[in-house]
Amino acid sequence: MSESKDFLRTIVEEDLKAGKYKEVITRFPPEPNGFPHIGHAKSICINFGIAKDYNGHCNLRMDDTNPTKEDTKYVEALKDAVQWLGFNWGENVYFTSDYFSKIYDYAVKLIKMNKAYVDSLTEEEIREYRGTVTQAGKRSIYAQRTVEENLDLLERMKNGEFKDGEHVLRAKIDMSAANMKMRDPLLYRIRHAHHFRTGDDWCIYPMYDFAHCLSDYIEGVSHSICTLEFENNRDIYDWLLDTLELKLPRPYQHEFARLGINYTVMSKRKLLDLVNGEYVSGWDDPRMPTIAGYKRRGYTKESILNFCDQIGIAKANSMVDVAQLEFCIRDDLNQKVPRVLCVMDPLKVTIENYEGSEEIDAPYYPHDVPKDGSRKLPFSKDIYIERDDFMENPPKGYFRLTPEQPVRLRHGYIIACKEVIKNLDGKIIEIKAEYYPESKSGSDTSGIKVNSAIQWVSAKEAKTVELRVYDRLFKNEAPEGLEDLNPDSLKIIKNALVEPAVITDKIDERFQFERQGYFYADPIDYTNEKPVFNKIVGLKDSWAK
Ligand code: ATP
Ligand code: MG
Ligand code: MG
Repeated sequence: MSESKDFLRTIVEEDLKAGKYKEVITRFPPEPNGFPHIGHAKSICINFGIAKDYNGHCNLRMDDTNPTKEDTKYVEALKDAVQWLGFNWGENVYFTSDYFSKIYDYAVKLIKMNKAYVDSLTEEEIREYRGTVTQAGKRSIYAQRTVEENLDLLERMKNGEFKDGEHVLRAKIDMSAANMKMRDPLLYRIRHAHHFRTGDDWCIYPMYDFAHCLSDYIEGVSHSICTLEFENNRDIYDWLLDTLELKLPRPYQHEFARLGINYTVMSKRKLLDLVNGEYVSGWDDPRMPTIAGYKRRGYTKESILNFCDQIGIAKANSMVDVAQLEFCIRDDLNQKVPRVLCVMDPLKVTIENYEGSEEIDAPYYPHDVPKDGSRKLPFSKDIYIERDDFMENPPKGYFRLTPEQPVRLRHGYIIACKEVIKNLDGKIIEIKAEYYPESKSGSDTSGIKVNSAIQWVSAKEAKTVELRVYDRLFKNEAPEGLEDLNPDSLKIIKNALVEPAVITDKIDERFQFERQGYFYADPIDYTNEKPVFNKIVGLKDSWAK
């Protein structure tokens, strides 16, 4: 449990103390119309987290009342996300569509109580009649229909006698309520559409406000936790349960602040536009703020859970800096992953005074990480270093290899540049170098001082890999639309070289490529013939430059 209690847990504890519920039952109720994003992760952590903390249960419920947008593939993605984050919904996934008959019966009951009516105004008229914040609405003349007429019309709506939009069912509440949502909210609408679970059984579908409170009640939910934008819907929630005389233990709604992160969009509709427009490779593109995207990029579930814990639960919306999420993943990986060598832009170096070959025993972890393990790092006279790590005419403060300045090969020897070979265009294509036999890392008696150690790979044993280096998907902190996409959010490096230890075990492997960042073997595109690594996140610090 989190150390400091948040306001939701305070409410739950008070309710338990007062004996209001025997068991805490929460629910995570996504609409299966897209892949879940990091905002959903927050909701998952809250709902499943609270249930866990109070020995209760959290239902996973698909809020599938909108047939034209929903699909089984999204149901699967939602299940994957919850599971991956380490939560358990028990035996069954619930679906609002399983309650369609019961919900319909409640509609009939409301009509019989003269608390609901079939309205036949057009959509536009309904909007007009609703009034404004400063002006009371006026009730539709159809509200005068008798109970019998309403029962007959609702049944005929259900039987498919009318076209979409011809009629709706509305609650009869108060057309001058200060809370606009209470001005006779819609309960049912006609929608002749195939539903991915109920097929063509229904052509009327309950609205969120009607379906949600009833689904919560049917499932025995105690605490119905949702985001702030539903604050005004709470009155409808209570009105419906009260009017239908659905008594304690009945659920109550509580709202918390939605998570927003900068440099990305979060709503599923906007994310779907990115997928459909092929601006990304799919819902699981590693640049997407979806759980599938983070997972594919190499984020650990611990980093996401820590992030959700750190940002806490608030009652006011705010924007969280994406740097905070990046901090969480970096912090987690720093303690976990082996450090290895990778050269992104190889420059050939021939060490002319070195004969034969050797294997250097190189630890995987720095001293401040309490993990053991090492690998054999092959070394020979033909190596590659990073093109950036050599400069012929360096500026002041450049500590890497230059014609005058030696450098250490990480875990290996100190080398000095003897000759720079260029092609006809003047591009440097090779460095002829010399090494100091007494300078081996760990047993250096050479007395030579260097300011920097650089990554390198042995030419013969190095493996070619593809690196996918990601940047923020949007160039603006608060992107408005596609025009704000960052054109450089993906850079593909085709011919990077890694030391052989990186290749041995590809499944679910994360590495720190020293001085470059954290990388993850792409779970989909990686093959032994063509290894592909995703950059998870950069390093905060790199070792001395
Ligand atoms: P979106 O607009 O991104 O599609 P939504 O609210 O329509 O989001 P749902 O599938 O209805 O998505 O959400 C399921 C649950 O997750 C709801 O309880 C919702 O409040 C919560 N949720 C959605 N987005 C966020 C967010 N950004 N932060 C916290 N909780 C969220
Ligand atoms: Mg929703
Ligand atoms: Mg939505």
